[in-house]
Amino acid sequence: MKYSPNSPILLTSSLHVDEARQAIANLVSELLQESSAINDPEDLEIVPLDQAINRVLAEDLLSPIDVPAADNSAMDGYAFHGSCLDLSTPVIHLDVVGTALAGKPYEGKIDPGQCLKVMTGAVMPTACDTVIPQELTTIEDDSIRFPSDQLKAGENRRLKGEDLQKGKPAITAGRLLRPSDLGLAASLGIATLKVRRKLKVAILSSGDELRSLGESLDAGSIYDSNRYSLTGLLNRLDLEIIDCGIVRDDPESLKKAFIEAASKADVLISSGGVSVGEADYTKQIMQELGDVGFWKIAMRPGRPMAFGILKPVPGKSPARKTLFFGLPGNPVAVMVTFYQFVRGALLQLNGANQTEPPLVQAVSETAIRKKPGRTEFQRAILGRDSQGRPSVRLTGSQGAGILRSMSEANCFVILGHEQGNIAAGELVDIALFDGLL
Ligand code: AMP
Ligand code: MG
Repeated sequence: MKYSPNSPILLTSSLHVDEARQAIANLVSELLQESSAINDPEDLEIVPLDQAINRVLAEDLLSPIDVPAADNSAMDGYAFHGSCLDLSTPVIHLDVVGTALAGKPYEGKIDPGQCLKVMTGAVMPTACDTVIPQELTTIEDDSIRFPSDQLKAGENRRLKGEDLQKGKPAITAGRLLRPSDLGLAASLGIATLKVRRKLKVAILSSGDELRSLGESLDAGSIYDSNRYSLTGLLNRLDLEIIDCGIVRDDPESLKKAFIEAASKADVLISSGGVSVGEADYTKQIMQELGDVGFWKIAMRPGRPMAFGILKPVPGKSPARKTLFFGLPGNPVAVMVTFYQFVRGALLQLNGANQTEPPLVQAVSETAIRKKPGRTEFQRAILGRDSQGRPSVRLTGSQGAGILRSMSEANCFVILGHEQGNIAAGELVDIALFDGLL
């Protein structure tokens, strides 16, 4: 399905989760093309390695050196010429002429019939290509013995450039940088990385019933929890958060808040105010400020959602559109729709080449009721069953407003659109929260 910023989708029937995701991905790629944001110098930054975690690498990192820099020993043992392995001689005798340690190469020459004691990582002496592990040898005075059929020429040696070759990419552009990437860059002597700038993401909560922390709760009011869940979710992605606070359910306040967000942010995420009835005046404002579709998505929780763009506010630099996600108000629905639709879009907008976390499977400990025709995200705890297999059990009541079901869980059980009831013992798809939410 195609979503064009100039042709809003105002849907009455329910949209499949996959169609919604595709429409979002299409719009994000149009925005990237329009703004050439991927290559715009304004969107790039050079940061020291120790600040690069969770950032998106902006250009291929080419290795300035071969890794390893020289052939070296993969074992503690004895290095020698492979030509000494004469299979017609059952036992090989070699004279030990010296020792090489990691970082302390042996400068002398090793002749046929001789060997050098080497530690793991020690540079291989000239013309030696094979290492016999120490435990396979018998030592006698200054010589060693070992059966000739214990190894082949060239074994137990790491080759120069085997891991990385000079001039070849060690990490490709678009990588969401992980601890191992920082270690890899450091191993190449690279102290800074060119990364994409942090996206600016504005958040707001809409609803007359919402109170800020520290305020007292009058009849019918509740604390605004969504901004805190969203802040936590966004902090996992290391973004710049612009907190636009609580906005009352009136068109003027809402319009003011949207304009403020559109003047500063790359993305605005609101929660609440998109369900039937409430959405009506939001729709009206959105028609003035941009191009937003109001979706009914075939999913649970998280059915109503708004999505589209806000036009750049005059004076905004760079003059970019703001991507808008109007998430439902229910606290669990906010987190589910963030996971399903927002997280991947934020990564895509920032040039990441891998935007979706892996799904795994586990055995359901209990039966789960499920109607075909919508995708469900149940909250669950992943553990092991009595046979040691990965298994999941749901965390109690699954209502969209029951945040405790989310807080106690460590994963979603994702039940696909066509899926019907699940029997106990059946395999189900799982998305782990860890490192994600
Ligand atoms: P809405 O989508 O605005 O109709 O809200 C759906 C439900 O979520 C209502 O019960 C709201 O009170 C609740 N809700 C909306 N926004 C928030 C929020 N920021 N924090 C906690 N609950 C909320
Ligand atoms: Mg509301």
